Amino acid sequence: MLVKPAKQLLLGRSQLIIMQKNILRMLALVLLGSTAGQAQELYMPRNIKMAYTKGTRAMDGKPGKNYWQNKGKYDMTITVTPQDKLVKGTETIAYTNNSPDTLKGVAIRFVNNLHKPESPRSGAVSKDFLTTGLDIRSFAVDGKPYSVDGRNWGTVGNVKLQSPLLPGATATFTIAWSYPLSKESGREGQLDSTTYFVAYSFPRISVYDDYNGWDRLPHTDAAEFYNDFNDYQLNVKAPKNYVVWATGDLKNPDEVLQPKFAERLKKSYTSDEVISIANESEMASGEVTKANEWNTWRFTADHITDVTFAMSNRYVWDAGSVVVDNKTNRRASVQSAYQAAVKDFPHGVDWSKQALQWFSNNWPGVPYPFSKMTVVQGFADMEYPMMVNDSTTPDMEFSQFVMNHEIAHTYFPFYMGINETRYAYMDEGWATTLEYLIALEQLGKEKADANYKNFRVSRWIANNATEEALPVITPTTLATGDNAYVKPSLAYLGLKDMLGDEGFKKALRGYMDRWNGKHPIPWDFFNSMNNVSGQDLNWYWNNWFFSNNYIDLSVSKVAIKGLDYTVAVKNAGGFAVPFDLNVTYADGTKQVIHQTPVVWKANQKATSVAFNAKKAVASIVIDGGIFMDATPADNSWKK
Ligand SMILES: [Zn+2]
Repeated sequence: MLVKPAKQLLLGRSQLIIMQKNILRMLALVLLGSTAGQAQELYMPRNIKMAYTKGTRAMDGKPGKNYWQNKGKYDMTITVTPQDKLVKGTETIAYTNNSPDTLKGVAIRFVNNLHKPESPRSGAVSKDFLTTGLDIRSFAVDGKPYSVDGRNWGTVGNVKLQSPLLPGATATFTIAWSYPLSKESGREGQLDSTTYFVAYSFPRISVYDDYNGWDRLPHTDAAEFYNDFNDYQLNVKAPKNYVVWATGDLKNPDEVLQPKFAERLKKSYTSDEVISIANESEMASGEVTKANEWNTWRFTADHITDVTFAMSNRYVWDAGSVVVDNKTNRRASVQSAYQAAVKDFPHGVDWSKQALQWFSNNWPGVPYPFSKMTVVQGFADMEYPMMVNDSTTPDMEFSQFVMNHEIAHTYFPFYMGINETRYAYMDEGWATTLEYLIALEQLGKEKADANYKNFRVSRWIANNATEEALPVITPTTLATGDNAYVKPSLAYLGLKDMLGDEGFKKALRGYMDRWNGKHPIPWDFFNSMNNVSGQDLNWYWNNWFFSNNYIDLSVSKVAIKGLDYTVAVKNAGGFAVPFDLNVTYADGTKQVIHQTPVVWKANQKATSVAFNAKKAVASIVIDGGIFMDATPADNSWKK
């Protein structure tokens, strides 16, 4: 997502007390963790320690020799009826328990129960957001019918199994369900009366993992998602004249599209051009889809964390493709669906191609891992595997920026299987970093820096609220916003400055290779980066992820001996940031002396920079660039 919904935290009293206790605990741990200079350990909660003891995770940052994750094979048919906006579905889930534990029950997750009036939410909603939620019409396990009444479920429900699911065993769940599609559209819902973005639309087996067991955290809209890597067969049954866009490969274009339109789509898979698959008048004339009352659009996607679809009888449809892997010449299909009148989405295919190509070849430099990307005009500014749902804006630069951000999420959380609900910085921090790195190329450094400062850094650094100073490691359910976006992004960019591009890329790629398709947690990232870089970076992780630091440097003293200058720099904010010393000489010439965060390794409160000036100095200014300072007024010295 581009930014978290700006809603007030509405927490109950007991939640507030838990939150206060957690804050105190975090503050205590920061005091313990501030020993500079010597080898440091990272604070690890007890459940995480247990995972390392059991060997499901390893201290060298690799998945442990006992690593496991569970998997489902989903075969679903989902229908949306435009008359009543009811989503109806049937599914079979072959769920395999790869854990060493016997499962006596399963947790079923249905995110869209967020719309039920009685569900806890992170903020107020309009009446148009409310629905009656999930109706379980039938439920069976291995052919045995269960009487499951989901009417009292929140976004997670529990089903006790009649016979336990043993380690290594597979159970087949057969579920029929329905729910009303929300009139107000957020991450999903009605985009207009005949255009729908249908996400989180099926009951799924929640994640059972090695460090928390069943993931039963309710979805409250603020924190995002955590899903298993499953295989999906998604059949969307849509009325005549409705086009369906979805995660996965469309397996039957000839069955659902008239020949002319199926040919255009197939041509787009190998074309460098942006092709109009169906324009406004073609959609209006009803000549695009097969003339059956209902068409079933069949999509497949394997080893992926979610599937989503959109459908419309009026959106126009563009497509093209781009080489995403130069070694194999593999292309990805790029598609766009939008209202004919908007100005930004006609660029959607072109912009998405640029993003796929750039991310594949530069940062993170991993070939786009999917076969397709579809950008859909909606309201969410939100990512889904192979799909993006973005609002339209009249500002072309901003629209492209948002698309870049959402497409960057392909790598984090989707390629990497991030638990966003608890560790949002493991995906939003990277999307924020990648959005900046691609902007350096597209807009140039001056503009990219200005945008990053204006949109990401300035509000955070100007905000002295206690909540803003919580350690980044704080669970996302307790602190999101800047802890998920700008603070981790600056940490990653500071590390890039310190390790250099080559060293940083090697370490990042090492982590990505080890954990792609799995479920890394923050300690896997820290340990893996230490291991692949060959450096003990725990002092840096403690500084950026386990502290209450912010950014505030100042010049405390300038000692001059002849032309030898020593600038004492105080670090009141505490973050280990890179900075420039901008030296202006008496004759008007300038010199920049760059310092990477390594200058804070030994002492995170103070450092000094010595240089031989060769001529008289008029002024010295500490400039952190995008690492904006809370009090820039004390960053300069004048002779
Ligand atoms: Zn995001």
